[in-house]
Parts: sequence; C-alpha cells; structure tokens
Amino acid sequence: MNESLQNKIEQLELTPENVGEMFRLLQLYSITNIAEVESLLHLRTAITERLSQEMAERYIAFAKNTADTHARESLDFFVEEIEPIAQEGDNTLDALLLKSKVAVDYLSSNAPLYLQQLQRRVELFRTPNLAIMAEEEVLSQSYAEIVAALTVEYGGKSHTMQEASALLELTDRGIRQDIYLLMLQQRLSVTARLHDLMDELLKLRYRIAVNAGFKNYRDYRHLELERFSYTVADVQALHKLIEKYFVPIADRVMVRRKRLMNVDELKPWDLDVDATGTAPLNPFYRVEELVQSGRSALESIDPRLGELVDRMVAAGHMDLDNRLGKAPGAFSYPLPRSKSSFLFMNATGVYDDVVTFMHEMGHALHEQLSGGLPYSFQKDMPMEVAELASMSMELVSSSKWDCFYGDLEHKRAKVRLLEEVAVTLPWIVAVDEFQHWLYTHPEHSHSERDGAWTKVYRKYASHEVSWLGAEEGFVFAWQRQLHIFEDPFYYIEYAIAQLGALELFKQFIQSPKETLVRFTEALEVGGSLPMEDIYAKAGLSFSFSEERIALLANFLEEQLASLWE
Ligand SMILES: [Zn+2]
Repeated sequence: MNESLQNKIEQLELTPENVGEMFRLLQLYSITNIAEVESLLHLRTAITERLSQEMAERYIAFAKNTADTHARESLDFFVEEIEPIAQEGDNTLDALLLKSKVAVDYLSSNAPLYLQQLQRRVELFRTPNLAIMAEEEVLSQSYAEIVAALTVEYGGKSHTMQEASALLELTDRGIRQDIYLLMLQQRLSVTARLHDLMDELLKLRYRIAVNAGFKNYRDYRHLELERFSYTVADVQALHKLIEKYFVPIADRVMVRRKRLMNVDELKPWDLDVDATGTAPLNPFYRVEELVQSGRSALESIDPRLGELVDRMVAAGHMDLDNRLGKAPGAFSYPLPRSKSSFLFMNATGVYDDVVTFMHEMGHALHEQLSGGLPYSFQKDMPMEVAELASMSMELVSSSKWDCFYGDLEHKRAKVRLLEEVAVTLPWIVAVDEFQHWLYTHPEHSHSERDGAWTKVYRKYASHEVSWLGAEEGFVFAWQRQLHIFEDPFYYIEYAIAQLGALELFKQFIQSPKETLVRFTEALEVGGSLPMEDIYAKAGLSFSFSEERIALLANFLEEQLASLWE
C-alpha cells in the first residue's frame, strides 16, 4: 500500500480543498496491476472511513444537543461543503475502476458484488438527474416540516403529535378517543398540502426514471436500491402471501384484544393500550439499569455481546436517556476509525426501550463483527441484511428479558413483541403495494389516489377494527408514513428482514447454540456477499416461496398460541 498517501489521509485536515485534492491524487493513481488495484482500494477505504467517522462525530454531537448551534453549523458544513466533493470524487473513481481492465478482472473474481454495484451506479448515472435529485431531497424534507408543526391542544396543554400518541396508551377510553380524534383533525388540516407535495415528488421522480431510460420510477428505484437478489414480481408475490398468511394472524390478535378489553367494537384508539387494562410495563427506571440488565441479557446469549456493551460504555459510546434538546429516535452509528459503534436512544423506562436497545445492539454487533474486513465496500450492508441482525436480536433476546421483568410481565412483553410482528408485516406490505400503484400510474387525481390506498389498505388492515366515525383516519393513513415521501420504496426490506428474523428465532428455539454460531458467522461477512449467500450462511433461506411464508406464519401463530394460554 502507498504509505505516504495513507499517512496523508490519516492526518488530512478536512477542508473542501484538501478533500478535493486528495481525491484528485487518488484519481491519478496508476492501476496497471493487481497490487496497485488493491492499494487503491485500501486508500479508498482509508478516505471513506476518515470521512464517515468525521460525519458520525458531527452528527452525534448535534443529535445529543440540537440546540448547540456550533454542532449544527459543523454538521451543515460537512454535509453541504465536504460531502458533495467526496461524492463527485467517488463517482470519478468508480468510472476509472470500470475503465481499467485489470481492475474489472480483479473485482469480477474477488468482489463480484461490488463490481455489480459499480456497474449499476455508472449505468444509472445521468448528469441532469443530479439537479433533480437535489430538488427532490430538499422538497421531500417539507414532509417533516409540515408534520412537525402539528400540535394537539388537550387539558390546557399543547402536545406534539409524538407526545399525543403516547396518550393513546392511557387506560381511560374516553380520553383516548378524544386524543385520537384531535390528532386526526390535525392530520386532516394538512391532507391537501401533503397531496400536493406528493404530486411534486412524483413528477420529479418520474423525470429521474425517464432520464435514466426507464418507463417508470418503480423499476428504476428497484435497481437504484441494489435489489439484485429479487425482482419486482417477487415483491408483488410477497404482498399476496403476507395478505394470505399474516393478515389472519393480525385479525386473531385483534379478536383477542377485543375480548380482553370487553368492548363491542374495537376502535382505532383502542390499539395501543394494554389489553388487560393493567398499567404499562416498566422494565427499568434509570438508564444505568437499562445498561446493566441489557448487558446481563445479552451476555447470556453470547459473551461477546456483554464485552461489547462494556467497551461501548467505557468509550463513552452510549447516550441513552431522553432529555430536552436531544434529537428524537434511536440509532447505532458505526465509528470505523474507533472500531466501535455509538448507541443513541431516548429511553424513558418503557417496554419499547428494551426492544430498541436490543435492536440497536444487534446493529452494533454486526458493525463490530464485520469491522475487521479490509475494504469499506465490504462493510456496507444492504438493509435486508442489516435489519436481519437487529430484528433477530429483538426476538432472540426476548427469551432473556427476565433480566427486566418478573414472570408475568416477561410473558406480557413477549406477547407484545410477537403481536407487533403480526400487525406490522401487513402494514409494511400495504405501504409498499400502494407505492407500486403510485409510481405506475403517473397521471392520477387526489381522489383516485385516496381510492387506490383505500383499496390496498382494506386488504391489509385488520378487519376487526371499526373505523366508523373515524373513516378519514383510514383513508389518509398512508400520509402518516414518512418513507413514502422521503425514501420511496425503502420499506419492504423490513418485511424481508422480519421474515428472516422469524426463521432464525424458530431455529434458535430448537438449537440455540448452533443457530447463534451460524448467525454471528453470517454477520462477519458484512455486505461482502450477495444477500442470499449471507442468509444461507445464517442457515436461512432467502426465498419468498409460499411454503416458507406459510411455515413462518404457522410458527408465529404457535408461539402466540402458547403465550396466550
Ligand atoms: Zn434498524
């Protein structure tokens, strides 16, 4: 490897000029033999990791305190001034690699997936699309602005929509109904604006697809998302199978809920409260307890997980408590140069926090295990694989949640996790199928759009919930899903990963040790193999066959039945 360039990258002061200059040096790098190709890939990894660590640190600093204007400026500077230069530099390097016969030969035998990704990027790239994509990105952010401005006035207090949804867990049914209808009223005040926004986004996305030589944006996006292991038709077949096998389970979840709540009709404001009328689960009070109990649970699954928690705590790579000014949400952010990950969340001591902690630790473990791979492109996991790690960790760890709960509560938590799987899978598919319609019907009116959603959602929403008196909540439900606006089609991956996680959980129950060995071996390969090969390493089949989906639905149903007793 070229030591002097390597050192230069390590010590580079990250100004736009320096980053641009560094990429120019890499573009001049000779690639006439295998040693030089490997050397360039190492140098490219060094600069990529330098930049992603920098981005991570700036992003985390801002997320920890969104009121810190210095952190905000430092992040904005990186995104606006440094990243575009790096992107341009990366594009040029991609093209140079593809032009070099020795590089292409090397990659086709050593990293065929990466070669495929490079070819796909170059194949879809159109200069005029850069400006349209920038416009699309800015425009899509209006969704968050429109929705974030909504507030619900209740009990003399103003609540954000997020705060208001938490009130839907209250045991008083009358209050829940009031809150739900107030939230709905708020959403209805922006439906027209969100429809208009969708019109604009559809137009831009249609132009992007046509410029790249596609008939519609769906087919373009399928390739852009690097879905090499399955086709659009496979996804459509999956829609039908989830409808056939998982919607009936979701219906049974609701029938049981109705019976436990002892109500004649289940209404949309009855879905978040504990069905038995007991107070919400309370797994811990302080985040120190979350770490301690979480560590015990994880360590009993795999000692490496306990050690990972210790290292992250010691390095100060966990920020778990909810406080004023902290960004919402949760993530595990890889820190490639520190060979670690940063776990960020907003814990308040509720059931969801335990699930989130396990989910993010699944990502952190994945990042840790694949962190030793030599090249950065090998550590880039497709989402179908990344979420397999995190969703599997939710399910597998649930058997150890006695670290958080007494017997009865532990059972309640396990029921809740599995019921959420049954209810969420159909929702994911509804969101996806609706987008297939949106992007294959470029000319349509707002009412046709609402009609299309209603038709789709009728198939996937539980038939046991009565929307009478809150019909608009059903018709405009799609507008609640940020991804439809900000990340088109980026959603079905959750269903694919969830099915994989169910399959892994099934095997874990039968033979925990062997399953975990295969699971961690699969995580070690990061994103260096095609998805189906990574799934196969974990002992899973990457198939959307009816036989497999039926088997997994049956497994979920059996698990629920035994817990429901
Ligand atoms: Zn995740």
